[in-house]
This record gives sequence, structure tokens and C-alpha cells, in this order.
Amino acid sequence: MPGTDGSDNGVVRLEGVGKSYDGGRTFAARDVTFAVARGETVVLLGSSGSGKSTVLKTINRLIEPTEGVVFVRGENSSAMRAVELRRSIGYVAQEVALFPFLSVAENLALPLRVQGVGKQERRAKALEALGWVNLTDDLADRMPFQLSGGQQQRVGVARALLAGADLLLMDEPFGALDAVTREALQDEVVRLGEEKEVSILFVTHDLFEALRLGDRIGVMHQGRLEQIGKPSELMNRPSTDFVRELFEKPKRQLEVLEQ
Ligand code: ADP
Ligand code: MG
Repeated sequence: MPGTDGSDNGVVRLEGVGKSYDGGRTFAARDVTFAVARGETVVLLGSSGSGKSTVLKTINRLIEPTEGVVFVRGENSSAMRAVELRRSIGYVAQEVALFPFLSVAENLALPLRVQGVGKQERRAKALEALGWVNLTDDLADRMPFQLSGGQQQRVGVARALLAGADLLLMDEPFGALDAVTREALQDEVVRLGEEKEVSILFVTHDLFEALRLGDRIGVMHQGRLEQIGKPSELMNRPSTDFVRELFEKPKRQLEVLEQ
């Protein structure tokens, strides 16, 4: 039984969260309830328009929910100051926007500057963060346009980690990258989740990305969370036709491999 104060149930917990953009006529997301435990990676998987981004953004209050409650680190987030809440959560959007006139190190240090961290410490942290995403120190003083797309994306992930070291929200962050770079970054996310004990909520429409990253996967369909569970649970005990059909293909592939 989930408590009402949210103190014992994960870094993030949503209870009955819903969002209507049209005054309650239709809901982009409805009745969404789940939690992300410390150090866990949860993937929200669903097709375009299924409500994934809406749910994600209720957590850092880029969107205010119409219904339900979001707890962040045990606190009702609606009672927190939105700016402070946002500063404490790393967020990587689909198109990572580095500031074009700031160097890589300055981009990385920006969330720290906002938090009032001194100059030398900012520089040291920025260099450390480059290491987290497997980039070398010599990139620190380059401008964003002097990096490849994959490197820019890595800087975006590092900046998000610096901003909110224990909680990271990622919204289809690797969609625009080539397959090889995407796989390298997926591995990086898995490693960060494991080594730094970051709690990650990752949104994607890509089933195989979800299987690669998720300790648990939540399937979104028409604004509803159809089912959430370990990949094996979704494959072997789908609770709806939609989930069963979605996981039929990877399930067959795994069965072939296991023969
Ligand atoms: P996803 O991220 O899964 O593609 P979204 O959460 O972005 O889905 O969108 C869910 C639904 O809400 C869609 O029908 C979308 O058109 C609608 N929607 C999203 N943002 C807005 C908005 N700011 N105003 C009105 N409708 C929106
Ligand atoms: Mg989206």
C-alpha cells in the first residue's frame, strides 16, 4: 500500500496523474501511477502522442498536472518552488540545446553557476562530468559547433547529471543520432545508472532501446499506462492485448536465441 506522504516509495512517485490540455474534455495522460526507485532506470515506451512527454514533464513541472500528485524525493512537488525543483532534476530533451556562445565547460558549469558554486570548483566539476560521459578534457574549451552531434548529446547528458545528480529525466534523447552513436550512448546511460546510482526515467518510442535500458518498462497507450514491469514480465504476463502484441516480436526472437 503506497503511503500518502511518499517518503518511502522511490525518488519519484506519481499517483493518479492526469493532464488535460482542453479543460477536461480530453486527457493526454490519465490515471498514471508508478514509482522510480533509487538507482533504477524506468523506461516509458509508447508511440508518438501516447502521452510520454506529458507524464515526464509533470515531474519537473514543465507541465502542471490536472489531476493526481507527483512526489519527488518524498515531497509533494506541487508544494515545492518550481524553479528549485527543476534545478534539482537533470533533464535531457530530444534536441539538446547547448548554448552556442558558451564553451563546453561553461555549458556544463551553468547549472552550478545558478546554484552559486564558485568558479574553480565549477571548472573542476565540469571536467569531471566530461569523464562521466567518456569525453576527454581537451574538449572543455571548444565551442559546441566544434563537436559532433554525438559529442553534443554527451555534453547534454553530463550537464543534466551535474544539475540533478540523483535524478535524470530523458525524453527521446538519442532519436536524431546514427545507430552506432546511439548504442554507445545507451551503454553510457546504463553505466551511469549502475555506477552513479542515478535514478533515470527515460522516454522512447523504440522497443529495442527500451529493452536495452529499462530495469522496468512502462507501456503508454492513448494516455494510459497499460502495464509496468520487468521486460520478462511484460513478455510473459502481458496484462492487455496491446502489450502482448507489442512484445510478441522480441519474445519470439529471444525464444529462437534460447533454443
Ligand atoms: P508523446 O510524448 O508520447 O509523443 P505527448 O505527451 O507529447 O506524447 O502528447 C500527448 C497528447 O497531448 C498528444 O495528443 C498531443 O498532441 C497533446 N499535447 C501535447 N502537448 C500539448 C499542448 N501543449 N497543448 C495541447 N495538446 C498537447
Ligand atoms: Mg514526446
